[in-house]
Amino acid sequence: MSDAAKPKEQPFDETYIADYIHSLEHRVRDLEQEKRVLEGQYIKLDRELASLRAELNRIRTPPLIAATLLDVLEDGRAIVRSSAGPRFVVTVSQFIKPEELKPGAMVSLNQSTLSIVEVLPSKKDPLVLGMEIEEAPDVSYSDVGGLEDQIEEIRETVELPLLKPDLFKKVGIEPPKGVLLYGASGTGKTLLARAVAHETKATFIRAIGSELVQKYIGEGARLVREMFELAREKAPSIVFIDELDAIGARRMDTSTSGDREVHRTLMQLLAEIDGFDPRGDVRILAATNRPDILDTALLRPGRFDRLIYFPLPDQKARLMIFKIHTRKMNLSKDVDLKVLARATEKATGADIKAICTEAGMFAIRDGREQVEQVDFDRAVAKVLPPSRMPEVPEYLPKPEKMYGY
Ligand code: ATP
Repeated sequence: MSDAAKPKEQPFDETYIADYIHSLEHRVRDLEQEKRVLEGQYIKLDRELASLRAELNRIRTPPLIAATLLDVLEDGRAIVRSSAGPRFVVTVSQFIKPEELKPGAMVSLNQSTLSIVEVLPSKKDPLVLGMEIEEAPDVSYSDVGGLEDQIEEIRETVELPLLKPDLFKKVGIEPPKGVLLYGASGTGKTLLARAVAHETKATFIRAIGSELVQKYIGEGARLVREMFELAREKAPSIVFIDELDAIGARRMDTSTSGDREVHRTLMQLLAEIDGFDPRGDVRILAATNRPDILDTALLRPGRFDRLIYFPLPDQKARLMIFKIHTRKMNLSKDVDLKVLARATEKATGADIKAICTEAGMFAIRDGREQVEQVDFDRAVAKVLPPSRMPEVPEYLPKPEKMYGY
């Protein structure tokens, strides 16, 4: 081959090579980045696959039957009542610890043998329990009008044991276990219980007596037990049982199965009160407007052994309550709260609150932004017509008559 026919050797071009290497490095980085993205996607899809497999397995598992455990027999078998109604004597899986088998617990049963295979976690969801639960309510003592003596007593019996339990130890006394607030409806019992929870930064758990009484046997007792478990978990806490008379009424001679169920709920409540430490960080409060019908077992020392009476507010207290509820209202200068306090004899705190709201409504109805005395006068007439004037019911004895102090 002649020299002319030979391919010409390319000159060594450094910039070209550098550019080429640079572009290759760039490409490597891009590919590494792409690899990372793909690895991430792989992990994500792998997880999704695992969760779908688990879901598939869950869907494929045969259903278990939910039942309530009624009793455990000496030979280790148990009596359960399925949610459909009938009762069965069944065997218990060996993996269940005997201490978990408490009467009233929810259990699940194998479909074919009806053996207990699992003790279900207790339904401590407050909504399921029909309870109201507030972490440190937003009401303080300054929102309570009058009731100075009651606040003082509550502070001694509920606040001090929660905030300074050592003080009681040093003095060598035990704080009262349960505190019963009694008085006509709307006199501020719930309000004060919430205020003390606020001051002590405690969780406020409110259950209503009539809602603790359930349709199924043993259900009410279970609710009570779970309520106290919840209180211990959320401690410091205040358990407040409103309408205590719904479960704590004295037993009559003629008893129906419904009465027996109420009684069972009451017995569980007594057992819970007896079993807890008075210096602990769970306090029990209850309220009733029928203290006269309460079972004496509830009022025995070591149970609800401190009783606090909530009277109707006097004129001075009424003025304070009016001031509290009109704090945020746009009042015209002519409004005289003193006159209102004088004109609302026998009104409860709740009535006064209703009067303030109604007065505001009358102002709105008239297209005004300021509430005038005339609105209040109309509100008083509406909330407290002579026929609906609340009287202290006759069955509500004065404290000294009832408990001899
Ligand atoms: P019940 O027995 O019907 O449960 P109660 O005694 O627990 O009644 P509360 O629920 O505390 O009454 O009162 C209802 C409302 O009335 C309260 O939310 C509050 O706004 C108002 N109220 C009652 N008493 C007072 C008071 N002393 N000071 C300020 N507001 C009050």
